[in-house]
Amino acid sequence: MNQIDYTDNEELKSRLMRRKDELSETLSEDEMRKAYDYCEPYKSFLNSAKTERETVEEAIRLAADNGFIPYEPDMELKAGDRVYLNNRGKAVILAVIGTESLSEGVSMVVAHSDSPRLDLKPNPLYENNGLAYLDTHYYGGIKKYQWAAVPLALHGVVILKDGTTINVTIGEDPADPVLCVTDLPPHLSVLQMKREASEVIKGEELDILTGINHIKGAGSDSVKLNVLKILYERYGITEADFVSAELEAVPAYPARDLGLDRGMIGAYGNDDRVCAFPTLTALFSAKLPKYTAVAVLADKEEVGSDGCTGAQSSFVKDFVSDLCENAKCPVRQCLKKSLCISADVITAFDPIFPEVGSVSNSTYLNRGVAITKYRGLRGKAETGDASAEFLAMLRRIFDENKVSWQPGEAGKVDVGGGKTLGRFISNLNIDTVDIGVPLLSMHSPFEVVSKLDVYMAHKAFTSFFDRDCFC
Ligand code: MN
Ligand code: MN
Repeated sequence: MNQIDYTDNEELKSRLMRRKDELSETLSEDEMRKAYDYCEPYKSFLNSAKTERETVEEAIRLAADNGFIPYEPDMELKAGDRVYLNNRGKAVILAVIGTESLSEGVSMVVAHSDSPRLDLKPNPLYENNGLAYLDTHYYGGIKKYQWAAVPLALHGVVILKDGTTINVTIGEDPADPVLCVTDLPPHLSVLQMKREASEVIKGEELDILTGINHIKGAGSDSVKLNVLKILYERYGITEADFVSAELEAVPAYPARDLGLDRGMIGAYGNDDRVCAFPTLTALFSAKLPKYTAVAVLADKEEVGSDGCTGAQSSFVKDFVSDLCENAKCPVRQCLKKSLCISADVITAFDPIFPEVGSVSNSTYLNRGVAITKYRGLRGKAETGDASAEFLAMLRRIFDENKVSWQPGEAGKVDVGGGKTLGRFISNLNIDTVDIGVPLLSMHSPFEVVSKLDVYMAHKAFTSFFDRDCFC
Protein backbone atom coordinates (compact mmCIF):
# COMPACT_ATOMS: atom_id res chain seq x y z
CA MET A 1 0.00 0.00 0.00
CA ASN A 2 1.31 3.43 -0.92
CA GLN A 3 1.35 6.10 1.73
CA ILE A 4 -1.45 8.67 1.60
CA ASP A 5 -1.46 12.09 3.20
CA TYR A 6 -4.70 11.70 5.14
CA THR A 7 -4.88 15.44 5.84
CA ASP A 8 -5.11 16.32 2.14
CA ASN A 9 -8.74 15.97 1.04
CA GLU A 10 -7.94 16.33 -2.65
CA GLU A 11 -5.37 13.55 -2.43
CA LEU A 12 -7.80 11.39 -0.49
CA LYS A 13 -10.39 11.91 -3.19
CA SER A 14 -8.08 11.23 -6.12
CA ARG A 15 -6.47 8.23 -4.50
CA LEU A 16 -9.50 6.56 -2.96
CA MET A 17 -12.48 7.32 -5.21
CA ARG A 18 -12.96 5.78 -8.64
CA ARG A 19 -12.76 8.37 -11.38
CA LYS A 20 -15.79 8.81 -13.60
CA ASP A 21 -14.67 10.18 -16.93
CA GLU A 22 -16.99 12.14 -19.17
CA LEU A 23 -14.91 11.34 -22.22
CA SER A 24 -15.64 14.52 -24.16
CA GLU A 25 -14.24 16.36 -21.13
CA THR A 26 -11.13 14.26 -20.61
CA LEU A 27 -10.00 12.95 -24.01
CA SER A 28 -7.54 15.02 -26.02
CA GLU A 29 -8.67 16.66 -29.25
CA ASP A 30 -6.41 14.26 -31.10
CA GLU A 31 -7.96 11.20 -29.46
CA MET A 32 -11.46 12.57 -30.16
CA ARG A 33 -10.60 13.05 -33.81
CA LYS A 34 -9.32 9.48 -33.99
CA ALA A 35 -12.58 8.27 -32.48
CA TYR A 36 -14.70 10.25 -34.92
CA ASP A 37 -12.60 9.04 -37.87
CA TYR A 38 -12.96 5.47 -36.61
CA CYS A 39 -16.75 5.82 -36.72
CA GLU A 40 -16.93 6.74 -40.42
CA PRO A 41 -16.25 3.17 -41.68
CA TYR A 42 -18.40 1.94 -38.79
CA LYS A 43 -21.39 3.80 -40.25
CA SER A 44 -20.69 2.25 -43.66
CA PHE A 45 -20.60 -1.15 -41.96
CA LEU A 46 -24.01 -0.48 -40.38
CA ASN A 47 -25.41 0.42 -43.80
CA SER A 48 -24.08 -2.62 -45.61
CA ALA A 49 -24.67 -5.14 -42.78
CA LYS A 50 -28.31 -4.97 -41.71
CA THR A 51 -28.89 -8.72 -41.44
CA GLU A 52 -26.88 -11.62 -40.01
CA ARG A 53 -25.97 -12.81 -43.50
CA GLU A 54 -24.87 -9.34 -44.61
CA THR A 55 -22.86 -8.91 -41.40
CA VAL A 56 -20.99 -12.14 -42.07
CA GLU A 57 -20.49 -11.27 -45.74
CA GLU A 58 -19.16 -7.83 -44.85
CA ALA A 59 -16.93 -9.26 -42.09
CA ILE A 60 -15.41 -11.73 -44.54
CA ARG A 61 -14.93 -9.04 -47.18
CA LEU A 62 -13.07 -6.87 -44.66
CA ALA A 63 -11.12 -9.89 -43.37
CA ALA A 64 -9.99 -10.81 -46.88
CA ASP A 65 -8.79 -7.21 -47.33
CA ASN A 66 -6.79 -7.72 -44.13
CA GLY A 67 -5.05 -10.90 -45.24
CA PHE A 68 -7.40 -13.56 -43.85
CA ILE A 69 -7.91 -16.75 -45.85
CA PRO A 70 -10.56 -19.48 -45.55
CA TYR A 71 -9.76 -22.02 -42.87
CA GLU A 72 -9.33 -25.68 -43.85
CA PRO A 73 -9.42 -28.31 -41.08
CA ASP A 74 -6.06 -29.87 -41.99
CA MET A 75 -4.19 -26.60 -42.48
CA GLU A 76 -0.68 -26.22 -41.14
CA LEU A 77 -0.87 -23.01 -39.14
CA LYS A 78 1.97 -20.95 -37.71
CA ALA A 79 2.11 -17.80 -35.60
CA GLY A 80 0.73 -14.78 -37.42
CA ASP A 81 -1.46 -16.79 -39.82
CA ARG A 82 -4.91 -15.30 -40.37
CA VAL A 83 -7.91 -17.53 -41.12
CA TYR A 84 -11.68 -17.43 -41.06
CA LEU A 85 -14.42 -20.04 -40.99
CA ASN A 86 -17.81 -19.16 -42.47
CA ASN A 87 -20.63 -20.99 -40.66
CA ARG A 88 -23.51 -21.22 -43.15
CA GLY A 89 -23.23 -17.54 -44.09
CA LYS A 90 -24.75 -16.45 -40.78
CA ALA A 91 -21.90 -16.78 -38.28
CA VAL A 92 -18.16 -16.54 -38.70
CA ILE A 93 -15.04 -17.31 -36.69
CA LEU A 94 -11.79 -15.51 -37.44
CA ALA A 95 -8.42 -16.20 -35.88
CA VAL A 96 -4.89 -14.87 -35.80
CA ILE A 97 -2.55 -17.63 -34.63
CA GLY A 98 -0.48 -16.69 -31.60
CA THR A 99 3.14 -17.37 -30.71
CA GLU A 100 2.21 -19.24 -27.52
CA SER A 101 1.08 -22.88 -27.56
CA LEU A 102 -2.69 -23.42 -27.69
CA SER A 103 -2.36 -25.25 -24.39
CA GLU A 104 -2.05 -21.74 -22.90
CA GLY A 105 -5.53 -20.90 -24.24
CA VAL A 106 -6.88 -18.34 -26.70
CA SER A 107 -8.21 -14.79 -26.39
CA MET A 108 -11.73 -14.78 -27.71
CA VAL A 109 -14.16 -11.93 -28.39
CA VAL A 110 -17.69 -12.96 -29.33
CA ALA A 111 -20.25 -10.52 -30.72
CA HIS A 112 -23.47 -11.34 -32.53
CA SER A 113 -24.50 -10.93 -36.14
CA ASP A 114 -28.30 -10.80 -35.81
CA SER A 115 -30.66 -7.98 -34.79
CA PRO A 116 -34.37 -7.77 -34.00
CA ARG A 117 -36.52 -7.40 -37.11
CA LEU A 118 -39.68 -8.58 -38.86
CA ASP A 119 -39.26 -11.93 -40.62
CA LEU A 120 -41.59 -12.93 -43.45
CA LYS A 121 -43.69 -16.00 -42.77
CA PRO A 122 -43.30 -18.99 -45.15
CA ASN A 123 -46.50 -18.04 -46.95
CA PRO A 124 -46.41 -14.29 -46.53
CA LEU A 125 -48.20 -12.65 -49.44
CA TYR A 126 -51.94 -11.98 -49.30
CA GLU A 127 -54.47 -9.46 -50.50
CA ASN A 128 -57.11 -7.76 -48.38
CA ASN A 129 -59.59 -5.16 -49.62
CA GLY A 130 -57.49 -4.17 -52.59
CA LEU A 131 -54.16 -3.97 -50.74
CA ALA A 132 -51.35 -6.52 -50.79
CA TYR A 133 -49.53 -7.42 -47.56
CA LEU A 134 -46.60 -9.49 -46.38
CA ASP A 135 -47.41 -11.42 -43.22
CA THR A 136 -44.56 -11.41 -40.66
CA HIS A 137 -43.43 -13.12 -37.49
CA TYR A 138 -41.26 -10.74 -35.50
CA TYR A 139 -37.76 -11.86 -34.49
CA GLY A 140 -36.27 -10.93 -31.12
CA GLY A 141 -37.50 -8.79 -28.25
CA ILE A 142 -39.14 -5.77 -29.81
CA LYS A 143 -41.67 -3.18 -28.70
CA LYS A 144 -44.02 -4.00 -31.55
CA TYR A 145 -45.60 -0.53 -31.71
CA GLN A 146 -42.20 0.95 -32.66
CA TRP A 147 -42.23 -0.88 -35.98
CA ALA A 148 -45.39 0.67 -37.44
CA ALA A 149 -45.22 3.77 -39.64
CA VAL A 150 -41.48 3.32 -40.24
CA PRO A 151 -40.07 2.88 -43.77
CA LEU A 152 -38.95 -0.72 -44.16
CA ALA A 153 -36.60 -2.46 -46.55
CA LEU A 154 -36.65 -6.14 -47.38
CA HIS A 155 -33.37 -8.05 -47.18
CA GLY A 156 -32.52 -11.70 -47.50
CA VAL A 157 -32.20 -14.69 -49.68
CA VAL A 158 -34.48 -16.95 -51.66
CA ILE A 159 -33.07 -20.38 -52.44
CA LEU A 160 -34.64 -21.91 -55.53
CA LYS A 161 -35.40 -25.63 -55.75
CA ASP A 162 -32.29 -26.11 -57.92
CA GLY A 163 -30.15 -24.56 -55.17
CA THR A 164 -29.66 -21.18 -56.84
CA THR A 165 -29.38 -18.36 -54.30
CA ILE A 166 -31.28 -15.18 -55.12
CA ASN A 167 -30.19 -12.18 -53.04
CA VAL A 168 -33.03 -9.78 -52.35
CA THR A 169 -32.67 -6.14 -51.31
CA ILE A 170 -35.60 -3.82 -51.78
CA GLY A 171 -35.76 -0.36 -50.26
CA GLU A 172 -32.13 0.65 -49.73
CA ASP A 173 -31.36 2.28 -53.08
CA PRO A 174 -32.91 5.79 -52.98
CA ALA A 175 -34.58 4.91 -56.30
CA ASP A 176 -36.26 1.88 -54.70
CA PRO A 177 -39.73 1.86 -53.18
CA VAL A 178 -39.98 1.12 -49.45
CA LEU A 179 -42.57 -0.83 -47.45
CA CYS A 180 -44.25 -0.20 -44.09
CA VAL A 181 -46.59 -1.43 -41.38
CA THR A 182 -49.55 0.92 -40.89
CA ASP A 183 -50.99 2.22 -37.62
CA LEU A 184 -54.42 3.65 -36.71
CA PRO A 185 -54.88 7.41 -36.71
CA PRO A 186 -55.42 9.05 -33.29
CA HIS A 187 -58.98 9.76 -34.45
CA LEU A 188 -59.90 6.09 -34.41
CA SER A 189 -57.69 4.91 -31.57
CA VAL A 190 -60.00 5.15 -28.56
CA LEU A 191 -60.04 1.38 -28.22
CA GLN A 192 -56.40 0.85 -29.29
CA MET A 193 -55.16 3.30 -26.65
CA LYS A 194 -56.76 1.12 -23.98
CA ARG A 195 -54.65 -1.87 -25.01
CA GLU A 196 -51.63 -2.94 -22.96
CA ALA A 197 -48.46 -1.39 -24.43
CA SER A 198 -47.28 -4.84 -25.58
CA GLU A 199 -50.48 -5.07 -27.63
CA VAL A 200 -50.76 -1.54 -29.02
CA ILE A 201 -49.68 -3.17 -32.24
CA LYS A 202 -50.24 -6.92 -31.96
CA GLY A 203 -47.94 -9.50 -33.50
CA GLU A 204 -50.51 -10.34 -36.15
CA GLU A 205 -50.93 -6.65 -36.97
CA LEU A 206 -47.29 -6.39 -38.06
CA ASP A 207 -48.20 -7.04 -41.67
CA ILE A 208 -46.33 -5.07 -44.26
CA LEU A 209 -48.17 -2.99 -46.85
CA THR A 210 -46.69 -4.10 -50.15
CA GLY A 211 -48.88 -3.14 -53.12
CA ILE A 212 -52.04 -1.44 -54.33
CA ASN A 213 -52.37 -1.84 -58.12
CA HIS A 214 -54.43 -4.56 -59.83
CA ILE A 215 -53.48 -6.39 -62.94
CA LYS A 216 -56.34 -5.17 -65.12
CA GLY A 217 -58.95 -7.82 -65.87
CA ALA A 218 -57.17 -10.55 -63.87
CA GLY A 219 -60.05 -10.95 -61.42
CA SER A 220 -59.68 -11.76 -57.71
CA ASP A 221 -56.32 -11.46 -55.96
CA SER A 222 -54.88 -9.48 -58.84
CA VAL A 223 -53.12 -6.95 -56.54
CA LYS A 224 -51.29 -9.89 -55.01
CA LEU A 225 -50.70 -11.27 -58.50
CA ASN A 226 -49.22 -7.94 -59.55
CA VAL A 227 -46.74 -8.06 -56.64
CA LEU A 228 -45.79 -11.61 -57.66
CA LYS A 229 -45.31 -10.41 -61.23
CA ILE A 230 -42.98 -7.61 -60.09
CA LEU A 231 -41.01 -10.06 -57.91
CA TYR A 232 -40.74 -12.49 -60.81
CA GLU A 233 -39.54 -9.75 -63.16
CA ARG A 234 -36.95 -8.52 -60.64
CA TYR A 235 -35.83 -11.81 -59.11
CA GLY A 236 -37.33 -14.71 -61.04
CA ILE A 237 -39.11 -16.01 -57.91
CA THR A 238 -42.63 -17.36 -57.47
CA GLU A 239 -44.95 -17.64 -54.46
CA ALA A 240 -43.78 -21.18 -53.63
CA ASP A 241 -40.18 -19.93 -53.40
CA PHE A 242 -41.04 -17.99 -50.20
CA VAL A 243 -41.00 -21.37 -48.47
CA SER A 244 -37.25 -21.69 -48.96
CA ALA A 245 -36.45 -18.06 -48.26
CA GLU A 246 -35.18 -15.96 -45.38
CA LEU A 247 -36.54 -12.48 -45.93
CA GLU A 248 -36.23 -9.88 -43.21
CA ALA A 249 -37.86 -6.46 -43.02
CA VAL A 250 -35.54 -3.87 -41.46
CA PRO A 251 -35.65 -0.07 -41.22
CA ALA A 252 -34.91 1.40 -44.65
CA TYR A 253 -32.82 4.42 -43.64
CA PRO A 254 -29.03 4.63 -43.21
CA ALA A 255 -27.02 5.29 -40.05
CA ARG A 256 -26.82 9.00 -39.20
CA ASP A 257 -24.74 11.27 -37.03
CA LEU A 258 -26.91 12.23 -34.09
CA GLY A 259 -26.86 15.47 -32.12
CA LEU A 260 -25.81 18.91 -33.28
CA ASP A 261 -22.30 18.09 -32.10
CA ARG A 262 -22.38 14.81 -34.07
CA GLY A 263 -21.27 12.98 -30.93
CA MET A 264 -23.61 10.02 -31.40
CA ILE A 265 -24.72 7.59 -34.09
CA GLY A 266 -28.38 6.73 -34.56
CA ALA A 267 -29.04 3.58 -36.56
CA TYR A 268 -30.88 0.35 -36.88
CA GLY A 269 -28.70 -2.57 -35.79
CA ASN A 270 -26.25 -0.86 -33.45
CA ASP A 271 -27.04 -3.93 -31.28
CA ASP A 272 -24.69 -5.63 -31.99
CA ARG A 273 -22.78 -4.15 -34.96
CA VAL A 274 -21.35 -1.65 -32.49
CA CYS A 275 -19.46 -4.52 -30.87
CA ALA A 276 -19.04 -6.69 -33.98
CA PHE A 277 -17.21 -3.97 -35.91
CA PRO A 278 -14.71 -3.18 -33.11
CA THR A 279 -14.22 -6.93 -32.63
CA LEU A 280 -13.17 -7.17 -36.28
CA THR A 281 -10.97 -4.08 -36.35
CA ALA A 282 -9.27 -5.15 -33.12
CA LEU A 283 -8.55 -8.59 -34.55
CA PHE A 284 -7.27 -7.07 -37.80
CA SER A 285 -4.81 -4.99 -35.79
CA ALA A 286 -3.42 -8.10 -34.06
CA LYS A 287 -0.27 -8.98 -36.01
CA LEU A 288 1.61 -11.48 -33.88
CA PRO A 289 -0.35 -11.96 -30.65
CA LYS A 290 1.03 -14.06 -27.83
CA TYR A 291 -2.23 -15.96 -27.39
CA THR A 292 -4.16 -17.02 -30.48
CA ALA A 293 -6.75 -14.30 -31.05
CA VAL A 294 -10.24 -15.49 -32.00
CA ALA A 295 -13.18 -13.34 -33.04
CA VAL A 296 -16.65 -14.83 -33.36
CA LEU A 297 -19.77 -13.29 -34.81
CA ALA A 298 -22.57 -15.61 -33.70
CA ASP A 299 -26.13 -15.67 -34.99
CA LYS A 300 -29.47 -16.09 -33.17
CA GLU A 301 -28.42 -14.21 -30.01
CA GLU A 302 -31.64 -12.23 -30.04
CA VAL A 303 -33.71 -15.40 -29.79
CA GLY A 304 -31.58 -17.35 -27.31
CA SER A 305 -28.52 -18.49 -29.32
CA ASP A 306 -30.13 -21.76 -30.38
CA GLY A 307 -29.55 -23.49 -33.70
CA CYS A 308 -26.39 -24.45 -35.54
CA THR A 309 -25.31 -20.84 -36.13
CA GLY A 310 -26.01 -19.69 -32.56
CA ALA A 311 -23.51 -19.61 -29.70
CA GLN A 312 -25.11 -22.70 -28.15
CA SER A 313 -24.10 -24.77 -31.16
CA SER A 314 -20.82 -26.66 -31.05
CA PHE A 315 -19.25 -24.65 -33.87
CA VAL A 316 -17.10 -22.48 -31.59
CA LYS A 317 -15.81 -25.45 -29.64
CA ASP A 318 -15.36 -27.47 -32.83
CA PHE A 319 -13.17 -24.76 -34.33
CA VAL A 320 -10.97 -24.53 -31.24
CA SER A 321 -10.84 -28.35 -31.11
CA ASP A 322 -9.69 -28.48 -34.73
CA LEU A 323 -6.93 -25.96 -34.05
CA CYS A 324 -5.87 -27.98 -31.01
CA GLU A 325 -5.93 -31.30 -32.83
CA ASN A 326 -3.65 -29.92 -35.53
CA ALA A 327 -1.32 -28.49 -32.91
CA LYS A 328 -1.40 -31.79 -30.95
CA CYS A 329 -2.69 -30.00 -27.87
CA PRO A 330 -5.45 -31.28 -25.56
CA VAL A 331 -8.51 -29.14 -26.25
CA ARG A 332 -9.69 -29.24 -22.65
CA GLN A 333 -6.43 -27.67 -21.56
CA CYS A 334 -6.87 -24.93 -24.17
CA LEU A 335 -10.47 -24.18 -23.19
CA LYS A 336 -9.75 -23.97 -19.49
CA LYS A 337 -6.91 -21.52 -20.06
CA SER A 338 -8.84 -19.40 -22.57
CA LEU A 339 -10.40 -16.02 -21.83
CA CYS A 340 -13.43 -14.57 -23.55
CA ILE A 341 -15.09 -11.20 -23.86
CA SER A 342 -18.77 -11.48 -24.70
CA ALA A 343 -19.10 -8.28 -26.69
CA ASP A 344 -22.64 -7.00 -26.57
CA VAL A 345 -24.39 -3.73 -25.96
CA ILE A 346 -25.78 -2.73 -22.59
CA THR A 347 -28.68 -0.40 -21.84
CA ALA A 348 -27.31 2.97 -20.78
CA PHE A 349 -28.85 5.26 -18.18
CA ASP A 350 -31.52 7.34 -19.90
CA PRO A 351 -32.13 10.68 -18.11
CA ILE A 352 -35.67 10.71 -19.51
CA PHE A 353 -36.43 7.45 -17.67
CA PRO A 354 -34.32 7.72 -14.49
CA GLU A 355 -36.73 5.50 -12.57
CA VAL A 356 -35.33 2.30 -14.11
CA GLY A 357 -31.66 3.24 -13.73
CA SER A 358 -29.48 2.48 -10.76
CA VAL A 359 -27.76 5.81 -10.03
CA SER A 360 -24.35 4.45 -9.07
CA ASN A 361 -24.45 1.21 -11.05
CA SER A 362 -25.91 2.15 -14.41
CA THR A 363 -23.70 2.67 -17.43
CA TYR A 364 -23.65 6.03 -19.17
CA LEU A 365 -23.06 7.18 -22.74
CA ASN A 366 -19.63 8.74 -23.29
CA ARG A 367 -17.95 7.08 -20.32
CA GLY A 368 -16.32 4.27 -22.26
CA VAL A 369 -16.97 0.56 -22.64
CA ALA A 370 -19.08 -1.06 -19.95
CA ILE A 371 -17.65 -3.96 -18.00
CA THR A 372 -20.52 -6.02 -16.68
CA LYS A 373 -19.64 -8.73 -14.21
CA TYR A 374 -22.98 -10.42 -14.69
CA ARG A 375 -26.15 -9.90 -16.67
CA GLY A 376 -29.19 -12.00 -15.96
CA LEU A 377 -32.46 -11.38 -14.21
CA ARG A 378 -34.42 -12.56 -11.18
CA GLY A 379 -31.48 -12.65 -8.79
CA LYS A 380 -28.67 -13.04 -11.34
CA ALA A 381 -30.15 -16.09 -13.06
CA GLU A 382 -28.90 -17.09 -16.50
CA THR A 383 -25.54 -15.38 -16.39
CA GLY A 384 -21.95 -16.62 -16.43
CA ASP A 385 -20.81 -14.13 -13.75
CA ALA A 386 -17.21 -13.21 -14.58
CA SER A 387 -14.58 -13.92 -11.97
CA ALA A 388 -13.04 -11.13 -9.90
CA GLU A 389 -9.63 -12.42 -11.04
CA PHE A 390 -10.49 -11.90 -14.72
CA LEU A 391 -11.95 -8.45 -14.01
CA ALA A 392 -8.79 -7.42 -12.17
CA MET A 393 -6.68 -8.44 -15.16
CA LEU A 394 -8.87 -6.46 -17.54
CA ARG A 395 -8.78 -3.34 -15.35
CA ARG A 396 -5.00 -3.53 -15.44
CA ILE A 397 -4.81 -4.06 -19.21
CA PHE A 398 -7.36 -1.33 -19.95
CA ASP A 399 -5.71 1.21 -17.67
CA GLU A 400 -2.27 0.46 -19.14
CA ASN A 401 -3.66 1.01 -22.63
CA LYS A 402 -5.70 4.13 -21.82
CA VAL A 403 -9.00 2.40 -22.53
CA SER A 404 -11.87 4.33 -20.93
CA TRP A 405 -14.19 1.90 -19.21
CA GLN A 406 -16.97 1.89 -16.65
CA PRO A 407 -18.50 -0.84 -14.52
CA GLY A 408 -22.23 -1.23 -14.56
CA GLU A 409 -25.49 -3.08 -14.65
CA ALA A 410 -28.32 -2.53 -17.10
CA GLY A 411 -30.86 -1.13 -14.63
CA LYS A 412 -32.42 -1.41 -11.21
CA VAL A 413 -32.73 -4.87 -9.66
CA ASP A 414 -35.93 -6.62 -10.74
CA VAL A 415 -37.10 -3.92 -13.19
CA GLY A 416 -36.25 -6.26 -16.04
CA GLY A 417 -32.89 -7.55 -17.12
CA GLY A 418 -31.17 -9.09 -20.04
CA LYS A 419 -28.98 -11.98 -21.03
CA THR A 420 -26.12 -12.33 -23.45
CA LEU A 421 -24.49 -15.27 -25.19
CA GLY A 422 -21.57 -14.99 -22.76
CA ARG A 423 -22.96 -17.72 -20.56
CA PHE A 424 -22.80 -20.27 -23.36
CA ILE A 425 -19.10 -19.58 -23.87
CA SER A 426 -18.47 -19.77 -20.13
CA ASN A 427 -20.27 -23.13 -20.12
CA LEU A 428 -17.39 -24.39 -22.30
CA ASN A 429 -15.17 -23.84 -19.23
CA ILE A 430 -13.86 -20.53 -20.56
CA ASP A 431 -13.64 -17.52 -18.22
CA THR A 432 -15.98 -15.00 -19.84
CA VAL A 433 -16.96 -11.41 -19.15
CA ASP A 434 -19.54 -9.11 -20.72
CA ILE A 435 -18.02 -5.97 -22.19
CA GLY A 436 -19.82 -3.71 -24.58
CA VAL A 437 -20.97 -0.33 -25.72
CA PRO A 438 -23.72 1.44 -23.74
CA LEU A 439 -26.74 2.18 -25.88
CA LEU A 440 -30.08 4.01 -25.75
CA SER A 441 -33.37 2.83 -27.29
CA MET A 442 -32.19 -0.79 -27.46
CA HIS A 443 -34.05 -2.99 -29.98
CA SER A 444 -35.85 0.00 -31.46
CA PRO A 445 -35.59 0.87 -35.16
CA PHE A 446 -33.17 3.68 -34.21
CA GLU A 447 -30.62 2.77 -31.55
CA VAL A 448 -28.24 5.39 -30.17
CA VAL A 449 -24.55 5.04 -29.25
CA SER A 450 -21.76 7.50 -28.49
CA LYS A 451 -18.89 7.67 -30.98
CA LEU A 452 -16.26 7.87 -28.24
CA ASP A 453 -17.62 4.65 -26.70
CA VAL A 454 -17.47 2.87 -30.07
CA TYR A 455 -13.81 3.79 -30.37
CA MET A 456 -13.16 2.66 -26.81
CA ALA A 457 -14.61 -0.75 -27.69
CA HIS A 458 -12.00 -0.99 -30.45
CA LYS A 459 -9.24 -0.02 -28.02
CA ALA A 460 -10.53 -2.41 -25.35
CA PHE A 461 -10.67 -5.44 -27.65
CA THR A 462 -7.32 -4.51 -29.21
CA SER A 463 -5.62 -4.43 -25.82
CA PHE A 464 -7.28 -7.73 -24.89
CA PHE A 465 -5.95 -9.46 -28.01
CA ASP A 466 -2.53 -7.94 -27.21
CA ARG A 467 -2.49 -9.30 -23.65
CA ASP A 468 0.70 -11.03 -22.54
CA CYS A 469 -0.64 -12.42 -19.28
CA PHE A 470 -3.24 -14.78 -17.87
CA CYS A 471 -5.42 -13.79 -14.94
MN1 MN B 1 -30.14 -7.38 -28.32
MN1 MN C 1 -27.03 -7.74 -28.35
